[in-house]
Amino acid sequence: MEFGNRNEKWKYEKDGLEIFKDLKDLAQKEFKEIDPGDVERLKWAGIYAQRPRDGHFLVRVKLPSGQVTAAQAKVLAELAEEYGKGEIQITIRQAVQIHNITLKDALDILPRLEAVGLSSVEACGDVPRTILGNPLAGIDAEELLDTRPIVEEVFRFFLGNPEFSNLPRKLKISISANPHDAGFARINDLAFVPAKLDGEAGFHAYIGGGLSAEPYLAKKLPFFIHPENVLKVAQAAATLFRDEGYREKRTHCRLKFLVDDLGIETVAAKIEAQTGELPRGGEEVTKGWNYGRFYGVHDQKQAGLVYVGLHLPNGHVQAKDLAHFAELAETFGQGRLRTTNSQNLILTDIPAEKAEELTADEIFTRYPLAPGFFTGYASSCTGNAYCNFAPIETKYRLQKLALAMEDEFPAIGLPLRINLTGCSHACAQPQLADIGLTGGRAKVGNEIVPVYTLQLGGHLGPHAAFAKKVEGKIPDNQLEACVRALIQHYLNLREAGESFHQVIARTDISVWQNLVNPYKAS
Ligand code: SF4
Repeated sequence: MEFGNRNEKWKYEKDGLEIFKDLKDLAQKEFKEIDPGDVERLKWAGIYAQRPRDGHFLVRVKLPSGQVTAAQAKVLAELAEEYGKGEIQITIRQAVQIHNITLKDALDILPRLEAVGLSSVEACGDVPRTILGNPLAGIDAEELLDTRPIVEEVFRFFLGNPEFSNLPRKLKISISANPHDAGFARINDLAFVPAKLDGEAGFHAYIGGGLSAEPYLAKKLPFFIHPENVLKVAQAAATLFRDEGYREKRTHCRLKFLVDDLGIETVAAKIEAQTGELPRGGEEVTKGWNYGRFYGVHDQKQAGLVYVGLHLPNGHVQAKDLAHFAELAETFGQGRLRTTNSQNLILTDIPAEKAEELTADEIFTRYPLAPGFFTGYASSCTGNAYCNFAPIETKYRLQKLALAMEDEFPAIGLPLRINLTGCSHACAQPQLADIGLTGGRAKVGNEIVPVYTLQLGGHLGPHAAFAKKVEGKIPDNQLEACVRALIQHYLNLREAGESFHQVIARTDISVWQNLVNPYKAS
């Protein structure tokens, strides 16, 4: 039998979900003795081989819409302390990762997750991934409706569902009713956004978005989707992807390529053929983009309660600090926290009169409530700390750059988002950044050094657009000077309240190319 790629062969030989039966045996083996197909199938258990490939893995835990209780957070902290060098990472899909575990560790970790209602099942692999959502769902004063029950329904339907455990690639779903595009709709395979029809609250949907080396903004489907129809549409889209998606070259297997080839009318017809006729029309209520940031103390929709959003530098939190946040959530609130897709944390349900006492805790000096306009809005991927693809270190490099810009431009007054991604897989979403950097290595003079390509002015929300590329590679030792020149020019041109991406949108890219040219490697 011919297969389009080796992953298809592995999936045909044994379904990814079968890996749970093999886990105990695999844990007894040296890494080099494990069949590569099984290393791949481990992703269905949320277990991913990390760099260097020496028998250490990360375990990814799904948190639909970023919801986590204090009791669950404490268990995550305990597991990270015992097995993960005391550190936890929040991902750009609101999931949580513990690195440096072995398969023997996983035998203890997975049941302990399950015991508190957490799951790593299908957190990785060619499956529907964790459902991204509004981290404020249920407490959001601006949300059109509470999406928690809908997220839960879709999450439970797909979780470990053998009907959908062999997709051509991953399927990323976003469900949010927040008007500031908290679900980053148009970079998902399928996204539900808030909409109204004749005064009724529901959703519009976008399909076929994604980043990586060939980014696509998702295209709008023509339907108005009542809350009770969200699962039907998600199921129909997943079925279309499973049955008609490409299964040859791995980089071409994502849903975005199928949607682009079929055209949105055909995709809509194929979805409706499964769901039955759906209403048309209505009005989307998205009115901006908040960059997925929720810093500071803000009123909830519940009178007298506030939520407290804080910044986790580099998306990392020490296990003991996560346990402390859980403690605070229990002491001051109702034992509830949320993760965000900007890799940060929110404590919810705090009585307003207790907010001052809560935020006086020493921990907020290390995890600030009002981070700087560079450091609080910068994003990096994992980089060569753990990622097998990474040619460069990213997290500390970006932190150094952001701190330098914060020193240089203390009066910027608005967020300026610099994203640094380690390679063309674009995990840090450079296409959405004000200044997007993609790392690599190249010979400059006699040395091989880190170099960066740039793109400028990306944003989501209404009129979403990817960042525009400028030519050339910037050597590491020129990066600060180059970024400084770009920001200074933005400050020279901006009118009151104008963000970096708005200035880029109204100026010719050649202006910015000319600024970058002196810093390029020759
Ligand atoms: Fe790894 Fe590349 Fe993704 Fe960074 S962008 S985490 S280097 S695959």
